[in-house]
Amino acid sequence: MSTAVLSKLLFESQFISAKFIDPFGKIVKRPIEIRKNPITGRTCRLAFSRINEKETATDALPQPPPDADETAKCPFCRPQVVAETPKVHPDLVSNGRLSWGDSLLFPNLYPYGSYSAVSLFNDEHFVEIGKASGPSYTDSFINCCHYMAAVLEDNPRAIYMAITQNHLPSAGGSLIHPHLQINADPVPANHHRVFLQKADEFYQQNDDFLFSRYLSQEKADGLRYIGATGSWQWLAAFAPEGFYEIWGILPRTTSFFQPETSDWEDLSRGILNTQRFYRSLCRNGSFKLCTLGAQ
Ligand SMILES: [Zn+2]
Repeated sequence: MSTAVLSKLLFESQFISAKFIDPFGKIVKRPIEIRKNPITGRTCRLAFSRINEKETATDALPQPPPDADETAKCPFCRPQVVAETPKVHPDLVSNGRLSWGDSLLFPNLYPYGSYSAVSLFNDEHFVEIGKASGPSYTDSFINCCHYMAAVLEDNPRAIYMAITQNHLPSAGGSLIHPHLQINADPVPANHHRVFLQKADEFYQQNDDFLFSRYLSQEKADGLRYIGATGSWQWLAAFAPEGFYEIWGILPRTTSFFQPETSDWEDLSRGILNTQRFYRSLCRNGSFKLCTLGAQ
């Protein structure tokens, strides 16, 4: 039996205000809430006075990007994908590219780390936010896992792994053809380094998983808990650093090799639910996705 003392995560916030004379000559006070992320310690500011502000370009989904129809010029469309994309080094796999369902995976021509790859969903060139199929996400995720397993065989120190997506140019996607990016490296990126340090400290002190604890406290509080898709639990970030930042947590899971196929299906459903929410808000037609794990 553990003798560890269970400590509660602190969801800290404080209010400040700005006072000034508004354009009608009235002295006003505008409240601002500063929240501290219980995991990272980073703060964010919620500016309540902007709540009713009408943002530009949110009346309707934006028009498709100019190259939405230009499949012949796209290096990720067939048949040119076979000739114009690189192949995986033979130390990792023997046949150059990995396939799973309709997903095709190959190295990133412009790598960010030791192992940097791209996993296409299928041959569909332009997909509006929330309109991808669940199986296309699931197959692409599983394809990523097969690649990361080959990476670990090649370099057991490349344990810092991430699957990310910048969908459409407004989210930073350089090619509109939907794809996931995979990075695995022996050197952690910022989020990996901070999260792992905090999760390790928490585990040593409490004999418990940091994000699972975060989830259980948020679920008990109820204010930001959204719901579940299978084993995945979804909640709005307490101290968001992006617009409409939503977290998905698979409790007590730290590696990309732990989830079963059904967990990937559940993750895909949650991601698509989130995208449909963004779509309902006409949020720019794009989104960013970041999934982290360490072997
Ligand atoms: Zn394409």
